[in-house]
Amino acid sequence: MPRRNRYYILGVYALLLALSAGFSIKIYHDSRALYGETVALIEQDLPILGSLSNLRANVVAQEPILYEYYATTDRARFRQRWQGNRQLVAELGTKIRRDFPGHPRLLVVDDLNREVDALSLELDRLLGAKPVDWDEARALLEEISLHAVEINANLDRLAEDVHGRVDSKASAAQMRVDTINWTALFYSGAMFLLAIAAGYLINSYLAGARERRRLAMFAERNPNPVMNLDAAGGVLYANPAAHSTLATLGYNAGPLTLLLPSDMPARLESMLTEGLATRQWNYTALGREYETTLQYLQDFEYFNAYLVDVSGRKEAERRMEYLAEHDPLTDLPNRRRFIEDIRREIANGRLGAVVLLSIDRLRAIVDGVGHGVADQLLQAVAQRLLRSLADCTDQCSNAHLYRFEGAVFGLLLPCLETEQTPEQITRKIARDFESPIHADNQAFFLGVSIGASLFPTDDGDAVNLISHADRALQQVKQRGGGGYRAYDRDLSIQAAERLALEGDLRHALERKELFIQYQPQVEVASMRIVGVEALLRWRHPTRGLISPAQFIPLAEASGLIVPIGAWVLETACAQAQAWHTTGLPRITMAINLSARQFATEDLARDIAQVLSQTGLPPQFLELEVTESMAMDDVERSIRILRAMKDLGACISIDDFGTGYSSLAYLRRLPIDKLKVDQSFVRNLENDPGDAALVLSVVQLGHSLNLSVIAEGVETLGQLEFLRGTGCEEIQGYYFSRPLDSAALETLLGSGIAAFQA
Ligand code: C2E
Ligand code: MG
Ligand code: MG
Repeated sequence: MPRRNRYYILGVYALLLALSAGFSIKIYHDSRALYGETVALIEQDLPILGSLSNLRANVVAQEPILYEYYATTDRARFRQRWQGNRQLVAELGTKIRRDFPGHPRLLVVDDLNREVDALSLELDRLLGAKPVDWDEARALLEEISLHAVEINANLDRLAEDVHGRVDSKASAAQMRVDTINWTALFYSGAMFLLAIAAGYLINSYLAGARERRRLAMFAERNPNPVMNLDAAGGVLYANPAAHSTLATLGYNAGPLTLLLPSDMPARLESMLTEGLATRQWNYTALGREYETTLQYLQDFEYFNAYLVDVSGRKEAERRMEYLAEHDPLTDLPNRRRFIEDIRREIANGRLGAVVLLSIDRLRAIVDGVGHGVADQLLQAVAQRLLRSLADCTDQCSNAHLYRFEGAVFGLLLPCLETEQTPEQITRKIARDFESPIHADNQAFFLGVSIGASLFPTDDGDAVNLISHADRALQQVKQRGGGGYRAYDRDLSIQAAERLALEGDLRHALERKELFIQYQPQVEVASMRIVGVEALLRWRHPTRGLISPAQFIPLAEASGLIVPIGAWVLETACAQAQAWHTTGLPRITMAINLSARQFATEDLARDIAQVLSQTGLPPQFLELEVTESMAMDDVERSIRILRAMKDLGACISIDDFGTGYSSLAYLRRLPIDKLKVDQSFVRNLENDPGDAALVLSVVQLGHSLNLSVIAEGVETLGQLEFLRGTGCEEIQGYYFSRPLDSAALETLLGSGIAAFQA
C-alpha cells in the first residue's frame, strides 16, 4: 500500500478514536448530571411536597380535635388524639427541615407550632378547671385557629418554593437531555461522515490491492522469465517461468543466475554509473539465446530483468538470412551474394575475375528427364565445379562458386596473379566436364559455356562486370556453346554494330537486298542431284555480302526472321516449282526453319498456303529443323512436325550430333532424315573419333528408318568414307558451293546433273 494512503487511514482511525472518546466523555458527563438532578427531584423535592401536604392536613386536623375537646371536655380522648396529631406534625416538621434546612418559613412554622402547643396546654388547663372559663377557652381556640391559618399560609408558600425548585430542575434536566440528544446526533453524523471517508479510503485501498495483485500476477503468469535483481546481481525474486525455464534446461537445482550472463554485476554497475534507466542486450546462457531488458527502479533500488528466449527466432532469422543469400538447391551462395562479394573484392583493388558458367542445353535435359532428376544433376554439377575449383587453389586460393537461376553458375576469382588465370581455371573446369556426371543412375555428358570479365581491367561496378561476363558468355553460346571467352571492349562495340546491322536488316527485304542461293544435295548411289538446300544471303549496300551465320541470329532475336522466313519459304518453293515446270529434273527443295518460326502456331497453315499458292507438290518440300529446336519442347515439336508431315512434306534434323538428343525422344519424332553436322565430317579423315561418330550416326539413322545426309563434304576421302557407311546423300563444296538460281538452273539443265566421282 502506498505510504500516503496508510497515513490517511491511520489519521482517520485516530480522529475516530478522539471523537468517540470526546463524545463518550461528554455524554457520560451529561448523563451523570441528569441522573443527579433526577435523583434530587425524585428523592428530595417530590417527597417534600408530600410531606408539606401531610403537614398541612395535620395542621387543619388540629382544630376539630380542639373544638371537640371544648365541646365534650373529654380529656382522655383529647389527649390521645392531640398527642397523635402533635407527633405527626413534629415528625413531618423534622423531615421537611432535613430537606430544607434553615428555610426561614420553616422557622416561622416552628415558632407558630410552639405557640400552638403553648395555647393548647393553656386550653387544656382552662377546660380542666372548675369552672370552666368558656370565654377564655373560646378566645384560645380562636387564637389557635389564627395560628393554624398562618402555619398553612407559610406551608403553602414553602410548597410554592419547592414547586419552583422542581420546575428549574426539570428544565435543567430537559436541557441536559437536549444536549445529550444533540451530542448523540452530532456524534452519529460525524460517525456517518467518517464512515463514508473510511469507506472511500478502504475502497481505494481494496482497488489498490486488487491492482497490486493483478500487477503481481503479471509477473507470476508471465510465460517468460522475470526477475528482480539487487545491485550486485543477486536474485530477489524470480517468477515461476524463470524456475521452470531453468528446470526445462536440466538445471533444477542450479541458481537462477545461470539464466543471466556471468558479467551481470558489471553490467548493472555500468547502468548505474551511466545513469541508464533501461538497457537491452542479447546473450547466450545455457546454450540458449536470450534477449534481456533491464530496468532500474530507482524508488525500490532494484532492477527488473525481463528475459525472452529468442533462440527460435534467431535461428529463423539466420535461416532467412541464409536463404536470402543462398540457393536452396545447391546450398551455394546466390547472385545477391555474388554482387556483394564482387563489390568487396573490387574495393580490395587486386586483380580478379567475374566468371559466368552456363550448362549447355540444360533445358532439353529437364524436358527429357524431368525436374527431379534435373535438380539432382544440378547438385552434382555444383559438386563437380567445387571439386574442380579445389584443384585450382594454386592459381586462386579463395575462389567462390555461386548459383544463379537456371543453368548458370557464378564464379568469383579474387587476388589473381595474371589475367590468364581465369582461362586456365575454366579450361580445367571444362576438362573435368568431359567425364560424365551422374544423376539418378544416369550418366550425362554436359558442356559448359564460360564468359568472364576482369576487374579492375574491365571497369565498371559489380553489376556491369556481371553483364560483361554475360555478354562474353552469350558470344560463346552463339558460337554453339562450349568454351571460354573473356569480355573485351570489342564485344560492346560488336553489340553496337549488331544494333546498327539489325536496323539495316529491317529494310533488307523491301530493298531487295536478300536473295537465296541453292546448294545441291547429291545421292551417293547415283551421284545425281536429288535436291537443293535454300541458303539465305544478304547483300548489304556498304558491307557487302553478309553471312547468314551473322545475321540469322539477329533476325531471330529481333523477330524479323518471321517475315524473312516466310519470304524464303515462298521464294524457294516458287523457284522449285518453276524449275519443275520448265522440265528440269524434279528435285527436292530443303528449307531451313528458324527456332522462332518453329515456335509459331500457324506454321503448318502458312506452309500449306505457300504450297497451294506456288503449286509445288508437298513431297518436294523438305523442312530442316535443328536438333536443339526439336528437342526444346519435345511434345510440342512432335505436334508441329506431325502437322507438317500431314501436309506431305519431309522433315530433316539439321546439324545432327551437335546437341543433346535423347534417343527415346528422337524415336518419337515424325522425321525422315538426319543431317550429319559438317563439324564431324570436316575431320573424319584425321580424327578416328569423328569417323566413328559419323558411322554411328548413320547406323542410328538407319536403325530408326531414317535416311542420312552428310553436310560439308569437301574431299573425295570424305565422300568415300561416307559411301562406306551407307550414308544416302551428301552436300558440300566437293560437289558444289551454294549457287544462284540461274547458275543452278544451268547446272541442272546442262545435263551434268550427275557427278562423276
Ligand atoms: P546449314 O543449314 O547447316 O547450312 C549449311 C551451311 O554449310 C551453309 O552455310 C553452307 O554454305 C555451308 N556449306 C555447305 N557445304 C559446305 C562445305 O563443303 N564446307 C563448308 N565449310 N561449308 C559448307 P551458310 O550458307 O553460311 O549458312 C549458315 C547457316 O545459316 C545454315 O546452316 C542455316 O542454319 C542458316 N541459314 C541459311 N539460310 C537460312 C534460311 O533461309 N533460314 C534460316 N532459318 N536459316 C538459314
Ligand atoms: Mg540447313
Ligand atoms: Mg547444317
